[in-house]
Amino acid sequence: MGFLDKLRQLLGGSTTGGASASDSTGLWFHFRCKRCGSMVRIRVDRRNDLNREDDGPGALVLRKEVMDDSCFQLMQAEIWLDNSYNVVSSDVSGGELVTEEAYRAATEDEPPA
Ligand SMILES: [Zn+2]
Repeated sequence: MGFLDKLRQLLGGSTTGGASASDSTGLWFHFRCKRCGSMVRIRVDRRNDLNREDDGPGALVLRKEVMDDSCFQLMQAEIWLDNSYNVVSSDVSGGELVTEEAYRAATEDEPPA
């Protein structure tokens, strides 16, 4: 599959609403910036972004820098997952990991720009 096809798939996927249904390799993580409280959501590719490590609390680890678009603080996230991609433990400097429900609730409260 070419890059443009992938891009088209990504763009098309958002209109159907189900990010997880149409995106079998993507995982979404939601963060709240501790400085300004804004929400950030990132997509992680299961095949490329997760590392398998033996000496942590989970089977897989994601280490990612996350930047919110309000104060542009860089958050350093380390998230451990089990083999079913459930979060086992998370450590986010400058922010915190939140659930998708919390993300939705917070972003829906904001008045439309
Ligand atoms: Zn911020």
